Amino acid sequence: MWAFRVRGKDAGAAAALWPPVHLLIAATGHLASPLAPLAAGWVVLFGRRAPKWAAPAAGVVAALAIGADWMDGTAPVWTAAAGWVLLMALAAGLAAWVAHGPGAKRMGSAVVPEPEAAPRRDGEATDAEAVENALAVILRATDAHEAALWRADGVDDQRTAAVLVRAAAPEVPAAESPVALAGHPFAWAIDERLPQRIQRGKRDLPSPWAAEMLLLPVEVEARVMVLALAYPGQVPPGAEAAAVRGGQHLGTLLGLLKSRAAVRRADAGMRAMADAVRTLPGELELDKFAAQLAAAVRQGTGAAGAAVALVTDDAGRGKVLHASGEPMPMGAEAFGEGESRLSLAVKHGVDLNYVDLRRERDRLPLLAPGEKWEQAPRSAAVLPLMVDGRAIGVVAAWHPEPGRFGEREREILHLLCSVAPMPMRSARRFEALDQRASTDPLTGLPNRSAFDQRLAALSSYFDRYARPFALVTLDVDFFKKFNDTWGHEAGDRVLQHVSELLKSTVRDVDLPARLGGEEFAVLLPETTLRQAMDAAERIRRTLESRTVNWQGRPLSVTASVGVSACPDCTATPSELLGLADAALYRAKESGRNRVAAAPKLEAAGRA
Ligand code: GH3
Ligand code: MG
Ligand code: MG
Repeated sequence: MWAFRVRGKDAGAAAALWPPVHLLIAATGHLASPLAPLAAGWVVLFGRRAPKWAAPAAGVVAALAIGADWMDGTAPVWTAAAGWVLLMALAAGLAAWVAHGPGAKRMGSAVVPEPEAAPRRDGEATDAEAVENALAVILRATDAHEAALWRADGVDDQRTAAVLVRAAAPEVPAAESPVALAGHPFAWAIDERLPQRIQRGKRDLPSPWAAEMLLLPVEVEARVMVLALAYPGQVPPGAEAAAVRGGQHLGTLLGLLKSRAAVRRADAGMRAMADAVRTLPGELELDKFAAQLAAAVRQGTGAAGAAVALVTDDAGRGKVLHASGEPMPMGAEAFGEGESRLSLAVKHGVDLNYVDLRRERDRLPLLAPGEKWEQAPRSAAVLPLMVDGRAIGVVAAWHPEPGRFGEREREILHLLCSVAPMPMRSARRFEALDQRASTDPLTGLPNRSAFDQRLAALSSYFDRYARPFALVTLDVDFFKKFNDTWGHEAGDRVLQHVSELLKSTVRDVDLPARLGGEEFAVLLPETTLRQAMDAAERIRRTLESRTVNWQGRPLSVTASVGVSACPDCTATPSELLGLADAALYRAKESGRNRVAAAPKLEAAGRA
């Protein structure tokens, strides 16, 4: 009843005018009624909590009571008034003495933040603050020197308990935390769900300095925590009953905080859904689609991390498109059939939920073989993205703590994974279309238009940052002869041979392309003319040294190669292709199967 919080002027004023008490006083107030001690008691208790407001509160009570007496007219008003004023002054004085005097305990507290402490919203106490305030009230109500809320974790004889929140007088040292629960007095309070009073005896108390302690079970849904109250001497009379009530109220408060967190999660879930429905269908790049879906999963379910993978073939193989969060897996790339939990969900087309991965007997990786976790997740949920009864992708959500994907989280996941498959299929189709538009079907190399795009990008990069880059063009020697002698298919085979050789002899950052017919080119970023000449010579030599197998016959293939570079040969990137082609023409003229470079700029200047 008295457990209101007083903070700041407004709260104090509101409490001072606490209507029920004042109405009572106003209705029946005369000094002889049992209301007088009640009103005085209220002033004392209120004043103790809000010392600044003790005098005004006493004044309000006295004024109301005098007013009531006067209306009654039952006693000489001045006697009653003097009596009330005296009584209230005494009460206010007593309150001030209790609040500031030698008997007062000052509060010190240490708060272990709740792991799921949610961000504060306007005017809302955080979970930790709310529990801290409640503990401070309990500390006062029970006259304890320390009040600590312990939370148990683990299973069977591995159970431990750790301090979640603590309020204590400043001189009181904090207890060791966490403690093993096996044989510990806390285990009793948790298992039997009965309050206990324990005394210092052969064994130390959980708070080693204490002479006596009260341990109260605090039930929050299915979970039991322990409220531990410690006293340097005997537990004072009345404290036990207050402690039991305190434990119950604390349980109610924690339950309410949990509901608040659930409401927030539901809220976040709805927002994630709305975002997903709004943004996913418009996202035509698979990687970005995957990143957005993973973000929605994390936002909607409170998952610590999430990944989205694409199923790449009918055998249920797939590749991880995106993984993010904390903890982050490293090296999770592709998975084959039966190689990870993702692949299981794909294969069977069912949702998988792991309450605690540590308790799984198999040691299957969550995402893909080769994944490495700084901290392995304990809970995980895996859902396939189904279209027409087949998985085209798969989503995983994880958390380092066990049991984090309850019914609500799974429901949100389910909803997200039911809106995601169609936009994912559309993104995949667009990407394939885009790939087709930029790839030469015979050799799989980027085509002329992809080459032009990349050349334009490198050109503008050069114009802006003057970073060197080079261009190699290559034309197969006497290519017509292959067609004419062995047929068009043999010619095609030769072109494939050349393109495979190009792919394997250039760096990852280089771009080999088929410009058309039997003409190829390679774009080499961050490369000078000299370095490009070396690369071109390497290509020419490798081609010369290998043969193409055509129906059992080894065919020799050679090519002529032209090289040009910015800024070695020109400061104008648009001239690069023409310069390389001119060099290639000279290579043909001077006998084929050779490399020729465009003239260097200063040499051209001197000539
Ligand atoms: P050079 O050494 O002067 O380059 O002689 P070449 O025979 O290689 O040059 P030319 O330009 O005379 O011949 C190129 C031929 O390549 C003409 C064309 O029929 C053939 N060709 C173009 N595209 C393809 C293709 O996709 N497949 C096949 N098999 N032949 C192609
Ligand atoms: Mg040609
Ligand atoms: Mg040719």
